[in-house]
Amino acid sequence: MQPIITDTIRIERLVESEGPLYPLRVLLPDLDESVVEEHRAWLTPRFFHPETRLLVMSLHTFIIRTPQHVILVDTCVGNHKHRPDFGDWHHQRTPYVENLNALGIALEDVDFVFCTHLHVDHIGWNTRLDDGRWVPTFPNATYLFARREWEHWHAYATDPAGPDDPYPPPVRQVLRDSYRDSVLPVVEAGQSELITDGHHIEKGIWIEATPGHTPGNAILRIERDGLHAVLSGDVIHHPLQVVYPEVSSAFCFDPEQSRQTRRKFVEHYADSNALILPAHFATPTAGQIVSNNGSFRFVFRS
Ligand SMILES: [Zn+2]
Repeated sequence: MQPIITDTIRIERLVESEGPLYPLRVLLPDLDESVVEEHRAWLTPRFFHPETRLLVMSLHTFIIRTPQHVILVDTCVGNHKHRPDFGDWHHQRTPYVENLNALGIALEDVDFVFCTHLHVDHIGWNTRLDDGRWVPTFPNATYLFARREWEHWHAYATDPAGPDDPYPPPVRQVLRDSYRDSVLPVVEAGQSELITDGHHIEKGIWIEATPGHTPGNAILRIERDGLHAVLSGDVIHHPLQVVYPEVSSAFCFDPEQSRQTRRKFVEHYADSNALILPAHFATPTAGQIVSNNGSFRFVFRS
């Protein structure tokens, strides 16, 4: 993704990993494999890998720089995290910090970290391993969590009775473990702030509630200097869901609410000047939603 630059804002994408990740029916169980043939022209090979037949996904952090602040949105999987059921994520080692430094940002420079939701692939770099302990990666940052989201996952991860949810046991385990190693240490260090719908980080940069994928799922809106950008997190996981907004992911906590939120989102931003920056769209990631004969499609920004 080319940096998005205005007089007072710079948005960049820091990639932790990108490549073929999930079979279509694992991520989007309501879609039939026939959609791959129907949309092959734009889908392969950038968004669907034909040899492995896996959806291509990206895990990345968006970095927003203004004259006042450095803001990170979503922090991927992280290094050294114990994720035994999740392949490459288990004790992963990527040059994420080195790549952040290469953009001219030291860990101490980060003022805010906002996690759109508290799933394992959005919170990992909240903490790093230091002498056997998980400590906040960004020592001067305030970590912003939607209050509703935090309350849900705190209860989920700490209730000795265990959670009541639709997930299979390995997913349940990783959601609990990741909260404990990537969110709780930040809260215990006094670096978290619980925020509500409409919270402004600074002028023209604010949080908006978009529940469904998780109970307190939220997005980040930017409207300033003529730039209209929406960091949409996991409201939409894959560009196929712009064409089929009624299709929720297998990881959505409330698939029906997620469906409603996604449809409203797609209809609201279709044919607008809003630049959409989703959390998992493969390169080039950013683009606009346009209407297309009664349906919708995603037009990537080059
Ligand atoms: Zn995600």
